[in-house]
Amino acid sequence: MRRTSDIVSVPLWQEKIAAPRLADRPLPAAVDVLIVGAGYTGLSAARETAAAGRTTLVLDAAAVGAGCSGRNGGQVAYSIKPSPGKLSSRYGTERALAICREGREAVAYLRSLATQGGVDCDWRERGCFFGAHTPRHFKAMAREARAQHPALQQRITVVTPAEQRQEIASDFYHGGCVYHDDASVDPMMLLLALLRRAQDGGAAIQDHCAVTAIRASRAGFEVQTSRGIVRAQKVLLATNGYSGPVSRWHRRRVISIGSYQIATEPLGKERVLSLMPQGRNMVDSRRVVVYFRPSPDGERIIFGGRAALGEKDPIACVPRLRAMLTAIFPQLQAVRISHAWVGWVAYTFDTMPHVGQRDGLYYCMGYCGQGVPLAPYFGMRIGRQMAGLSDGRTALDGLPFPSRPYYFGTPWFLAPSVWVFRTLDALGI
Ligand SMILES: Cc1cc2nc3c(=O)[nH]c(=O)nc-3n(C[C@H](O)[C@H](O)[C@H](O)COP(=O)(O)OP(=O)(O)OC[C@H]3O[C@@H](n4cnc5c(N)ncnc54)[C@H](O)[C@@H]3O)c2cc1C
Repeated sequence: MRRTSDIVSVPLWQEKIAAPRLADRPLPAAVDVLIVGAGYTGLSAARETAAAGRTTLVLDAAAVGAGCSGRNGGQVAYSIKPSPGKLSSRYGTERALAICREGREAVAYLRSLATQGGVDCDWRERGCFFGAHTPRHFKAMAREARAQHPALQQRITVVTPAEQRQEIASDFYHGGCVYHDDASVDPMMLLLALLRRAQDGGAAIQDHCAVTAIRASRAGFEVQTSRGIVRAQKVLLATNGYSGPVSRWHRRRVISIGSYQIATEPLGKERVLSLMPQGRNMVDSRRVVVYFRPSPDGERIIFGGRAALGEKDPIACVPRLRAMLTAIFPQLQAVRISHAWVGWVAYTFDTMPHVGQRDGLYYCMGYCGQGVPLAPYFGMRIGRQMAGLSDGRTALDGLPFPSRPYYFGTPWFLAPSVWVFRTLDALGI
């Protein structure tokens, strides 16, 4: 195995496309809209407020895309986690159906941006193979695929264990399903395209400028930054898994969890295709899920998941992630890993994204590790809301945003939860 000291801790995508360093410009004294966070959410919202004629300033504490938007897996799927049945029991049938529709629209919106809207992001609609971890999981997923909820008619093909090798050169799974509408993007290309869109719409973006406090004022808000104070009529928190002390209320409602990825060294296109013949995304039915896909150039495999009980340096997680990869592909026993990285995704206690405002402060966050389609879409919607447009409304507006007693932003329950889930997975339960 390669020495870990040779492994680069930069996301593979950023090797080809580095995050841009934006010119330092004097901050305006006042704007109509100030957005905290320059990831997919913040940039998408900024495009809408600027295009509607509102002076818009986006600030990021680090580089554009330093958060998850520059370091994700680029997989695009229907991403509302609770099932339609669970949504119905929580919010009633009508609202549940409307929420499912939003989930589908999020994928459709990204597809339309990529295929007709000039957002050049290496959009590929090759689908996703969802591998069954146990025969019982296979039965359940095949049953669900055959009796899909009317709100969620996705194109799904059941793949029996006997057919599985058409999808993956592995016997690790017990069959699975192909979700044909799923797609993939190059995360950095998407980020840069959304950055350009926001700038072309008239938004000003400033990197390396942290927001340190937000105070309500008579005309809106006074925003303290590392480079001085900016007054803003409206403010959006688009900080997702990087939500810090600026709003304690939000910090108590998002659970920042590290998601870890590795990239193999180039294996050659033929070898990658021999392992994943359809070139699809892959995920599986374990509680501690893993996800992988060919790199955009088809030369490598990019593999991600939860590698440790607590948070760790991404390089320290390589042996475990590599072992998880080779459990699926024993043929890769001698494979070398060239890149390893981590980013902070935002889980929520009800596994729902949350869009809305509290005391006049807008927020859009909590994608539970699935923001590639959700963040551009809900960012667009909240931007329209802030601009006072009626099509900014969403079926998620005003959903209760739960916290838990004794949770103040440090997920002390994470390690024991991962341990329990991992044990149940190992027992095949
Ligand atoms: C390893 C990994 C793999 C993933 N894979 C997938 C996938 O395959 N499919 C999928 O759908 N999703 C995936 N995700 C999740 C997805 O990337 C995120 O949900 C999405 O990018 C969130 O975008 P965002 O703009 O809301 O937040 P982010 O991109 O995280 O941006 C938040 C920004 O806020 C900034 N910020 C925070 N506090 C302040 C402050 N006080 N002042 C100024 N700026 C501040 C941060 O610097 C950061 O840039 C993955 C995430 C990771 C980490």
